[in-house]
Amino acid sequence: MTEPMDADVIVVGAGPTGLLLANELGLAGVSTLVLEKDVERTGQSRALNLQPRSAELLDARGWLAPIRERALTTLPGGHFAGLPLDYRGFDSPFPYQVGIPQARVEEFLEDHLAEYGTAVRRGHQLTGFTQDPAGVTVTASGPEGTYRLRARYLVGADGGRSRVRKLLGVGFPGRDGRIAAAIADIRLDEPPGRSLEWRLPSFDPGEGEPFLLPLGDGIHRFLFGGPAQEGMDRNAPVTEDEVRRALGPVHGSRLREIRSSSRFTDASRQAERYLDGRVLLAGDAAHIHFPAGGQGLNLGLQDAFNLGWKLASVVQGRLDAGLLETYHSERHPVGARVLQNTRAQGVLLVPDGDVRALREILTEVLAVPEANRRLAGMISGLDIRYPMPGAPAHPLLGARLPGVAQPDGRGVLLSSRAGGRPAALAEPWTDRIARTTAELPGAEAVLLRPDGYVCWAGPGDGTGLREALTHWFGSAR
Ligand SMILES: Cc1cc2nc3c(=O)[nH]c(=O)nc-3n(C[C@H](O)[C@H](O)[C@H](O)COP(=O)(O)OP(=O)(O)OC[C@H]3O[C@@H](n4cnc5c(N)ncnc54)[C@H](O)[C@@H]3O)c2cc1C
Repeated sequence: MTEPMDADVIVVGAGPTGLLLANELGLAGVSTLVLEKDVERTGQSRALNLQPRSAELLDARGWLAPIRERALTTLPGGHFAGLPLDYRGFDSPFPYQVGIPQARVEEFLEDHLAEYGTAVRRGHQLTGFTQDPAGVTVTASGPEGTYRLRARYLVGADGGRSRVRKLLGVGFPGRDGRIAAAIADIRLDEPPGRSLEWRLPSFDPGEGEPFLLPLGDGIHRFLFGGPAQEGMDRNAPVTEDEVRRALGPVHGSRLREIRSSSRFTDASRQAERYLDGRVLLAGDAAHIHFPAGGQGLNLGLQDAFNLGWKLASVVQGRLDAGLLETYHSERHPVGARVLQNTRAQGVLLVPDGDVRALREILTEVLAVPEANRRLAGMISGLDIRYPMPGAPAHPLLGARLPGVAQPDGRGVLLSSRAGGRPAALAEPWTDRIARTTAELPGAEAVLLRPDGYVCWAGPGDGTGLREALTHWFGSAR
């Protein structure tokens, strides 16, 4: 007899990671419950962008267009410690960033959960859990008091100070912050001159203008650091006085209102394991780093795209729990790479004459298209490739294949001609695989996982296709 459960999966945290994961699970028909300790969304937006790879993945589901309706602008490229990166050389429908406050992405994702009847219990906090071979028992506290929930899996998408991670006892090695900074979303009396234009952040040491970005409705994002922030308690409120001082005499006198503010550091840590038994970590719960280059939210969204369909396959009994190991083995190196590049960016932002010399040389190097491509691929998420063990070698294997619609979250078999052998081989998987024809670069047929990565590519005779279908999608009907 199967044990009654409150949900198949409990997701802790209604930030971008938890909300996207809940959507992916809902799309796959997995019953999901989201616990969120905050009664309301604060409206504060730490992130302001969708990188190209996040845009591609959201687009494959049909979610990018409604999100873009809430966007402010597009940003022509990316940056590495403020040094501009050109995204245009990539074969992507989105060789740019979508400029959108985090809160608006969250708003769409939370509203969209209604499609699946997924509840977000706001004002409900996870306080503890235990796991056993059959499931996880969660203790939560809400307005009515403390209660228990039972689910097959638990995902901690509960941010950098993750309670789930701490209770799990997973190591979180790395280092504490060295750079301290603050953000404040402010309203100014008069337009602050040239800062009113959207531009790439210039952190160039020696730059005199405050870093202000317009967020719409007369609100500006003000980012500031400096000696006054060193040693500051991260939880201490940002005061009006310090914002005014940091803005400088010209802009400081124009400060009318501080809408929201917070402090942050360049602390850099990553969970040693992204899963332990029936408990998984995603987003900031699994990795924290300096927000340079605009990658954290994007990393969390892509964790969720990687995990959602895998968790659904396991919960629905198509594949065994071993599949979840690939969530760790694929996403941990991607997170480690972001930690590495944000630490490097932190060094490049140190206000020092020698660092300025290094930045000048790097600027020259980045004028070389291949050098730009290397860094742009890293920051945009477009260079991510996963190992696909067991599949026949092919240049497309493990790479992304953009522009393929996957609105129902199924895999896709693309064939260069209709009625070929690969399509016939995939027929018993049509409940999990859509089949379509397409012009393919250098392959007769390609099998895409639900997260848009190529897990088989090959010749028209379909060598190895059946094995790849069974490996990633389970047994044939
Ligand atoms: C100043 C700053 C600027 C940034 N700019 C960018 C940028 O431009 N681009 C970018 O990509 N990223 C940026 N980031 C990073 C980005 O904001 C984070 O990576 C992102 O918010 C992570 O999302 P998340 O869902 O994993 O975690 P969070 O957004 O932290 O969400 C976690 C949620 O879990 C809830 N929670 C916590 N504990 C519990 C509990 N016990 N029970 C129930 N709920 C709980 C919290 O209330 C919260 O809502 C920036 C970060 C900072 C600090």
